[in-house]
Amino acid sequence: MPDIRAGTITSWRQLSPVLARFRLAPEGGHRFPAYEAGQYLALRRDDCRLTRRVAGPDGRPRYLPELDETGRQRRGPVTHAYSLASAPFQTERDSHVEFLVVLEMASSLGRFTESLFDMEPRQGGLMQYVERIVGDFTLSRRVHEATHVLMVATGTGIAPLVSMVRQVDHDASKGRPVPPQVTLLYANRTWPELAFHNELDAIAAAGRFDFVYVPSVSRPGDEQARETVGRGRANNVLRLALGLPMAEEAALDRARATGEDTTDLEVAAARAVPPQLPAGVELAALRARLRPGSTVVMICGGAAPMADVRQVAESRGYRVEQEKW
Ligand SMILES: Cc1cc2nc3c(=O)[nH]c(=O)nc-3n(C[C@H](O)[C@H](O)[C@H](O)COP(=O)(O)OP(=O)(O)OC[C@H]3O[C@@H](n4cnc5c(N)ncnc54)[C@H](O)[C@@H]3O)c2cc1C
Repeated sequence: MPDIRAGTITSWRQLSPVLARFRLAPEGGHRFPAYEAGQYLALRRDDCRLTRRVAGPDGRPRYLPELDETGRQRRGPVTHAYSLASAPFQTERDSHVEFLVVLEMASSLGRFTESLFDMEPRQGGLMQYVERIVGDFTLSRRVHEATHVLMVATGTGIAPLVSMVRQVDHDASKGRPVPPQVTLLYANRTWPELAFHNELDAIAAAGRFDFVYVPSVSRPGDEQARETVGRGRANNVLRLALGLPMAEEAALDRARATGEDTTDLEVAAARAVPPQLPAGVELAALRARLRPGSTVVMICGGAAPMADVRQVAESRGYRVEQEKW
Protein backbone atom coordinates (compact mmCIF):
# COMPACT_ATOMS: atom_id res chain seq x y z
CA MET A 1 0.00 0.00 0.00
CA PRO A 2 1.41 3.41 -0.91
CA ASP A 3 1.78 5.89 1.96
CA ILE A 4 -0.63 8.73 2.55
CA ARG A 5 1.25 11.98 3.09
CA ALA A 6 0.30 15.53 4.01
CA GLY A 7 1.35 18.11 1.42
CA THR A 8 0.94 21.89 1.57
CA ILE A 9 -1.01 24.05 -0.86
CA THR A 10 1.53 26.65 -1.95
CA SER A 11 -0.66 28.64 -4.34
CA TRP A 12 -4.37 28.85 -5.07
CA ARG A 13 -5.87 30.69 -8.06
CA GLN A 14 -9.63 30.95 -8.25
CA LEU A 15 -10.67 31.22 -11.92
CA SER A 16 -14.39 31.38 -11.14
CA PRO A 17 -16.53 30.61 -8.06
CA VAL A 18 -16.42 26.91 -9.03
CA LEU A 19 -13.01 26.46 -10.66
CA ALA A 20 -9.53 26.67 -9.14
CA ARG A 21 -5.89 25.97 -10.01
CA PHE A 22 -3.62 25.07 -7.15
CA ARG A 23 -0.13 23.83 -6.46
CA LEU A 24 0.80 21.27 -3.87
CA ALA A 25 4.23 20.82 -2.29
CA PRO A 26 5.09 17.36 -0.92
CA GLU A 27 5.32 16.47 2.76
CA GLY A 28 8.52 17.79 4.31
CA GLY A 29 11.53 15.59 3.52
CA HIS A 30 9.77 13.87 0.58
CA ARG A 31 9.53 14.32 -3.16
CA PHE A 32 6.62 13.39 -5.43
CA PRO A 33 7.20 10.14 -7.33
CA ALA A 34 8.44 10.48 -10.93
CA TYR A 35 5.60 10.52 -13.45
CA GLU A 36 4.68 10.92 -17.10
CA ALA A 37 2.55 13.77 -18.44
CA GLY A 38 -1.11 12.71 -18.43
CA GLN A 39 -1.00 10.70 -15.19
CA TYR A 40 -2.89 11.35 -11.97
CA LEU A 41 -2.63 11.00 -8.23
CA ALA A 42 -5.22 10.67 -5.47
CA LEU A 43 -6.00 13.51 -3.06
CA ARG A 44 -7.76 12.91 0.23
CA ARG A 45 -9.62 15.01 2.77
CA ASP A 46 -10.92 13.79 6.09
CA ASP A 47 -13.76 16.25 6.76
CA CYS A 48 -16.02 15.51 3.79
CA ARG A 49 -19.80 15.34 4.18
CA LEU A 50 -20.53 11.65 3.62
CA THR A 51 -23.32 10.19 1.52
CA ARG A 52 -24.88 6.75 1.24
CA ARG A 53 -26.10 4.93 -1.82
CA VAL A 54 -29.78 4.02 -2.13
CA ALA A 55 -31.76 2.65 -5.07
CA GLY A 56 -34.05 5.28 -6.59
CA PRO A 57 -37.63 4.51 -7.72
CA ASP A 58 -36.29 3.83 -11.24
CA GLY A 59 -33.70 1.37 -9.84
CA ARG A 60 -30.83 3.80 -10.44
CA PRO A 61 -28.53 4.65 -7.52
CA ARG A 62 -29.03 7.91 -5.65
CA TYR A 63 -26.80 9.32 -2.94
CA LEU A 64 -28.34 10.73 0.21
CA PRO A 65 -26.66 12.42 3.18
CA GLU A 66 -25.37 9.86 5.69
CA LEU A 67 -26.77 10.99 9.05
CA ASP A 68 -25.59 10.23 12.59
CA GLU A 69 -27.93 9.43 15.49
CA THR A 70 -28.54 13.17 16.12
CA GLY A 71 -29.59 13.71 12.49
CA ARG A 72 -26.40 15.55 11.49
CA GLN A 73 -24.51 14.61 8.30
CA ARG A 74 -21.49 12.48 9.13
CA ARG A 75 -18.07 13.72 8.07
CA GLY A 76 -15.24 11.45 7.05
CA PRO A 77 -12.50 10.73 4.49
CA VAL A 78 -12.98 10.83 0.72
CA THR A 79 -10.14 10.06 -1.70
CA HIS A 80 -10.36 10.83 -5.43
CA ALA A 81 -8.06 10.81 -8.46
CA TYR A 82 -6.95 14.14 -9.95
CA SER A 83 -4.94 14.57 -13.14
CA LEU A 84 -1.67 16.43 -12.84
CA ALA A 85 -1.69 19.62 -14.87
CA SER A 86 1.96 20.19 -14.06
CA ALA A 87 4.58 18.69 -16.35
CA PRO A 88 7.15 16.21 -15.00
CA PHE A 89 10.02 18.65 -15.68
CA GLN A 90 8.30 21.30 -13.53
CA THR A 91 7.86 18.89 -10.62
CA GLU A 92 11.46 17.80 -10.88
CA ARG A 93 12.61 21.43 -10.96
CA ASP A 94 10.21 23.09 -8.48
CA SER A 95 9.10 20.10 -6.40
CA HIS A 96 5.38 20.84 -6.70
CA VAL A 97 2.44 19.40 -8.61
CA GLU A 98 -0.44 21.43 -10.01
CA PHE A 99 -4.17 20.68 -10.31
CA LEU A 100 -7.27 22.18 -11.92
CA VAL A 101 -10.38 21.26 -9.96
CA VAL A 102 -14.05 22.13 -10.41
CA LEU A 103 -16.62 22.18 -7.62
CA GLU A 104 -18.94 19.23 -8.26
CA MET A 105 -22.55 20.39 -8.27
CA ALA A 106 -24.51 17.54 -9.90
CA SER A 107 -27.46 16.86 -7.61
CA SER A 108 -25.79 18.18 -4.46
CA LEU A 109 -22.31 19.51 -3.71
CA GLY A 110 -19.54 16.94 -4.19
CA ARG A 111 -18.08 15.42 -1.03
CA PHE A 112 -14.40 16.11 -1.71
CA THR A 113 -14.68 19.29 -3.73
CA GLU A 114 -17.08 20.97 -1.27
CA SER A 115 -14.52 20.34 1.46
CA LEU A 116 -11.71 21.60 -0.79
CA PHE A 117 -13.46 24.83 -1.78
CA ASP A 118 -14.44 25.42 1.88
CA MET A 119 -10.81 25.27 3.10
CA GLU A 120 -9.70 28.30 5.09
CA PRO A 121 -7.02 29.39 4.52
CA ARG A 122 -6.30 27.56 1.27
CA GLN A 123 -2.77 28.78 0.71
CA GLY A 124 -0.63 27.12 3.34
CA GLY A 125 -3.37 24.57 4.06
CA LEU A 126 -2.61 20.88 4.36
CA MET A 127 -3.81 18.38 1.76
CA GLN A 128 -3.34 14.64 1.98
CA TYR A 129 -2.19 12.71 -1.08
CA VAL A 130 -1.50 9.09 -1.88
CA GLU A 131 2.17 8.74 -2.71
CA ARG A 132 1.65 7.01 -6.06
CA ILE A 133 1.20 8.50 -9.54
CA VAL A 134 -0.41 6.27 -12.16
CA GLY A 135 -2.41 6.25 -15.41
CA ASP A 136 -1.95 5.25 -19.02
CA PHE A 137 -3.35 8.37 -20.72
CA THR A 138 0.13 9.33 -21.87
CA LEU A 139 1.77 10.06 -25.19
CA SER A 140 4.03 7.02 -24.83
CA ARG A 141 1.02 4.69 -24.37
CA ARG A 142 -1.51 6.24 -26.73
CA VAL A 143 0.17 7.81 -29.73
CA HIS A 144 1.82 4.74 -31.36
CA GLU A 145 2.59 5.44 -35.02
CA ALA A 146 0.57 8.69 -35.32
CA THR A 147 2.48 11.78 -36.41
CA HIS A 148 -0.25 14.25 -35.43
CA VAL A 149 -1.81 14.40 -31.96
CA LEU A 150 -5.18 16.16 -31.98
CA MET A 151 -6.12 16.97 -28.38
CA VAL A 152 -9.70 17.94 -27.54
CA ALA A 153 -10.56 19.12 -24.02
CA THR A 154 -13.42 20.77 -22.19
CA GLY A 155 -13.37 22.22 -18.66
CA THR A 156 -10.98 20.51 -16.27
CA GLY A 157 -10.27 17.92 -19.00
CA ILE A 158 -7.45 20.25 -20.05
CA ALA A 159 -5.38 19.09 -17.03
CA PRO A 160 -3.70 15.95 -18.46
CA LEU A 161 -3.36 17.58 -21.89
CA VAL A 162 -1.73 20.81 -20.66
CA SER A 163 0.73 18.62 -18.77
CA MET A 164 1.65 16.95 -22.08
CA VAL A 165 1.90 20.24 -24.00
CA ARG A 166 4.13 21.73 -21.29
CA GLN A 167 6.39 18.68 -21.34
CA VAL A 168 6.56 18.49 -25.15
CA ASP A 169 7.47 22.20 -25.26
CA HIS A 170 10.20 21.62 -22.72
CA ASP A 171 11.52 18.52 -24.51
CA ALA A 172 11.52 20.39 -27.84
CA SER A 173 13.58 23.19 -26.25
CA LYS A 174 16.14 20.56 -25.22
CA GLY A 175 16.24 19.02 -28.70
CA ARG A 176 14.58 15.79 -27.53
CA PRO A 177 12.20 13.88 -29.86
CA VAL A 178 8.59 15.14 -29.73
CA PRO A 179 5.43 14.37 -31.76
CA PRO A 180 5.81 16.05 -35.18
CA GLN A 181 2.47 17.90 -34.91
CA VAL A 182 0.20 18.72 -31.99
CA THR A 183 -3.16 20.54 -32.16
CA LEU A 184 -5.23 21.44 -29.09
CA LEU A 185 -8.94 22.32 -29.24
CA TYR A 186 -9.88 23.58 -25.79
CA ALA A 187 -13.26 24.97 -24.76
CA ASN A 188 -14.66 26.19 -21.50
CA ARG A 189 -17.72 28.24 -20.64
CA THR A 190 -16.16 31.67 -20.17
CA TRP A 191 -12.91 33.48 -20.83
CA PRO A 192 -11.70 33.50 -17.16
CA GLU A 193 -12.30 29.74 -17.03
CA LEU A 194 -9.98 29.04 -19.97
CA ALA A 195 -7.28 27.83 -17.59
CA PHE A 196 -3.66 28.06 -18.78
CA HIS A 197 -4.76 30.17 -21.78
CA ASN A 198 -1.91 32.70 -21.66
CA GLU A 199 0.68 29.99 -21.20
CA LEU A 200 -0.71 27.85 -24.04
CA ASP A 201 -0.87 30.94 -26.27
CA ALA A 202 2.77 31.71 -25.45
CA ILE A 203 3.85 28.12 -26.17
CA ALA A 204 2.10 28.26 -29.56
CA ALA A 205 3.68 31.65 -30.35
CA ALA A 206 7.17 30.48 -29.37
CA GLY A 207 7.11 27.83 -32.10
CA ARG A 208 9.54 25.43 -30.41
CA PHE A 209 7.44 22.63 -31.93
CA ASP A 210 4.60 22.45 -34.45
CA PHE A 211 1.72 23.35 -32.13
CA VAL A 212 -1.63 24.90 -33.02
CA TYR A 213 -3.79 26.06 -30.12
CA VAL A 214 -7.52 26.59 -30.75
CA PRO A 215 -9.24 27.98 -27.62
CA SER A 216 -12.96 28.76 -27.56
CA VAL A 217 -15.68 29.75 -25.11
CA SER A 218 -19.26 28.54 -25.20
CA ARG A 219 -20.63 31.61 -23.36
CA PRO A 220 -18.88 34.47 -25.10
CA GLY A 221 -19.04 37.95 -23.60
CA ASP A 222 -17.66 41.37 -24.43
CA GLU A 223 -14.12 40.20 -23.82
CA GLN A 224 -14.39 38.37 -27.13
CA ALA A 225 -13.07 41.54 -28.67
CA ARG A 226 -9.75 39.90 -27.79
CA GLU A 227 -10.26 37.68 -30.82
CA THR A 228 -7.49 35.33 -29.74
CA VAL A 229 -10.30 33.15 -28.43
CA GLY A 230 -12.84 31.47 -30.67
CA ARG A 231 -16.44 30.59 -29.95
CA GLY A 232 -18.46 27.46 -29.44
CA ARG A 233 -18.24 24.10 -27.71
CA ALA A 234 -15.23 21.91 -28.43
CA ASN A 235 -17.28 19.30 -30.27
CA ASN A 236 -18.74 21.98 -32.53
CA VAL A 237 -15.30 23.47 -33.20
CA LEU A 238 -14.18 19.99 -34.28
CA ARG A 239 -17.31 19.66 -36.40
CA LEU A 240 -16.49 23.00 -38.06
CA ALA A 241 -12.97 21.77 -38.79
CA LEU A 242 -14.40 18.59 -40.32
CA GLY A 243 -17.01 20.47 -42.37
CA LEU A 244 -19.98 19.16 -40.36
CA PRO A 245 -23.02 21.00 -38.95
CA MET A 246 -23.25 21.78 -35.23
CA ALA A 247 -24.32 18.83 -33.05
CA GLU A 248 -27.54 20.64 -32.17
CA GLU A 249 -28.40 21.18 -35.86
CA ALA A 250 -27.57 17.58 -36.70
CA ALA A 251 -29.85 16.32 -33.90
CA LEU A 252 -32.66 18.58 -35.13
CA ASP A 253 -32.26 17.34 -38.73
CA ARG A 254 -32.36 13.71 -37.55
CA ALA A 255 -35.52 14.32 -35.53
CA ARG A 256 -37.23 16.10 -38.44
CA ALA A 257 -36.34 13.23 -40.77
CA THR A 258 -37.93 10.68 -38.44
CA GLY A 259 -40.96 12.84 -37.57
CA GLU A 260 -40.09 13.12 -33.85
CA ASP A 261 -41.15 16.04 -31.67
CA THR A 262 -38.56 18.77 -32.32
CA THR A 263 -39.64 21.42 -29.77
CA ASP A 264 -36.70 21.01 -27.36
CA LEU A 265 -34.21 20.45 -30.16
CA GLU A 266 -35.26 23.66 -31.89
CA VAL A 267 -34.65 25.61 -28.67
CA ALA A 268 -31.24 23.92 -28.24
CA ALA A 269 -30.24 24.67 -31.86
CA ALA A 270 -31.31 28.31 -31.53
CA ARG A 271 -29.33 28.69 -28.28
CA ALA A 272 -26.14 26.97 -29.47
CA VAL A 273 -23.21 29.29 -30.12
CA PRO A 274 -22.02 28.73 -33.71
CA PRO A 275 -18.38 27.68 -33.74
CA GLN A 276 -15.83 30.26 -34.79
CA LEU A 277 -12.06 29.87 -34.89
CA PRO A 278 -9.81 32.35 -33.08
CA ALA A 279 -8.16 35.02 -35.19
CA GLY A 280 -4.92 33.64 -36.59
CA VAL A 281 -6.17 30.06 -37.02
CA GLU A 282 -7.12 29.44 -40.65
CA LEU A 283 -9.80 26.83 -41.31
CA ALA A 284 -8.01 25.45 -44.37
CA ALA A 285 -4.71 25.13 -42.50
CA LEU A 286 -6.45 23.41 -39.57
CA ARG A 287 -8.23 20.98 -41.91
CA ALA A 288 -4.96 20.14 -43.62
CA ARG A 289 -3.57 18.86 -40.30
CA LEU A 290 -6.49 16.47 -39.70
CA ARG A 291 -5.40 13.44 -41.73
CA PRO A 292 -7.25 10.41 -40.28
CA GLY A 293 -4.50 7.90 -41.13
CA SER A 294 -1.78 9.72 -39.21
CA THR A 295 -3.79 11.49 -36.46
CA VAL A 296 -4.63 10.18 -33.01
CA VAL A 297 -7.40 12.09 -31.20
CA MET A 298 -6.76 12.34 -27.45
CA ILE A 299 -9.78 13.58 -25.53
CA CYS A 300 -10.72 14.47 -21.97
CA GLY A 301 -13.69 16.41 -20.62
CA GLY A 302 -17.44 16.51 -20.11
CA ALA A 303 -19.34 13.32 -20.96
CA ALA A 304 -21.73 14.82 -23.54
CA PRO A 305 -19.24 16.80 -25.67
CA MET A 306 -16.71 13.95 -25.52
CA ALA A 307 -19.33 11.40 -26.66
CA ASP A 308 -20.03 13.64 -29.67
CA VAL A 309 -16.31 14.16 -30.38
CA ARG A 310 -15.76 10.41 -30.27
CA GLN A 311 -18.72 9.63 -32.52
CA VAL A 312 -17.81 12.30 -35.08
CA ALA A 313 -14.09 11.46 -35.10
CA GLU A 314 -14.60 7.68 -35.31
CA SER A 315 -17.15 8.06 -38.10
CA ARG A 316 -14.41 9.90 -40.05
CA GLY A 317 -11.85 7.14 -39.45
CA TYR A 318 -9.83 8.67 -36.59
CA ARG A 319 -8.47 6.60 -33.71
CA VAL A 320 -9.76 8.10 -30.46
CA GLU A 321 -8.03 7.75 -27.09
CA GLN A 322 -10.01 9.01 -24.09
CA GLU A 323 -9.28 9.67 -20.42
CA LYS A 324 -12.58 8.87 -18.68
CA TRP A 325 -13.32 10.44 -15.27
C1 LIG B 1 -8.31 9.61 -13.53
C2 LIG B 1 -9.18 10.76 -13.05
C3 LIG B 1 -8.69 12.05 -13.10
C4 LIG B 1 -9.49 13.11 -12.64
N1 LIG B 1 -9.00 14.37 -12.72
C5 LIG B 1 -9.76 15.41 -12.33
C6 LIG B 1 -9.25 16.75 -12.44
O1 LIG B 1 -8.12 17.01 -12.89
N2 LIG B 1 -10.06 17.77 -12.03
C7 LIG B 1 -11.34 17.54 -11.53
O2 LIG B 1 -12.03 18.50 -11.16
N3 LIG B 1 -11.82 16.27 -11.43
C8 LIG B 1 -11.07 15.21 -11.80
N4 LIG B 1 -11.56 13.93 -11.66
C9 LIG B 1 -12.87 13.72 -10.99
C10 LIG B 1 -12.65 13.59 -9.48
O3 LIG B 1 -11.95 12.39 -9.20
C11 LIG B 1 -13.95 13.56 -8.67
O4 LIG B 1 -14.78 12.55 -9.17
C12 LIG B 1 -14.70 14.89 -8.69
O5 LIG B 1 -13.88 15.95 -8.22
C13 LIG B 1 -15.97 14.84 -7.82
O6 LIG B 1 -15.61 14.52 -6.48
P1 LIG B 1 -16.56 14.93 -5.25
O7 LIG B 1 -16.19 14.10 -4.07
O8 LIG B 1 -16.58 16.41 -5.07
O9 LIG B 1 -18.00 14.48 -5.75
P2 LIG B 1 -18.80 13.15 -5.28
O10 LIG B 1 -19.34 13.32 -3.92
O11 LIG B 1 -17.93 11.96 -5.53
O12 LIG B 1 -20.01 13.23 -6.30
C14 LIG B 1 -19.82 12.99 -7.66
C15 LIG B 1 -20.88 11.98 -8.11
O13 LIG B 1 -20.56 10.73 -7.47
C16 LIG B 1 -21.77 10.11 -7.02
N5 LIG B 1 -21.67 9.92 -5.55
C17 LIG B 1 -22.05 10.72 -4.53
N6 LIG B 1 -21.85 10.10 -3.34
C18 LIG B 1 -21.29 8.90 -3.62
C19 LIG B 1 -20.85 7.80 -2.84
N7 LIG B 1 -20.96 7.79 -1.50
N8 LIG B 1 -20.33 6.72 -3.47
C20 LIG B 1 -20.22 6.67 -4.80
N9 LIG B 1 -20.63 7.69 -5.61
C21 LIG B 1 -21.15 8.78 -5.03
C22 LIG B 1 -22.92 11.01 -7.41
O14 LIG B 1 -23.42 10.51 -8.64
C23 LIG B 1 -22.29 12.36 -7.65
O15 LIG B 1 -22.99 13.11 -8.61
C24 LIG B 1 -10.78 12.86 -12.12
C25 LIG B 1 -11.26 11.54 -12.07
C26 LIG B 1 -10.47 10.52 -12.52
C27 LIG B 1 -11.01 9.10 -12.45
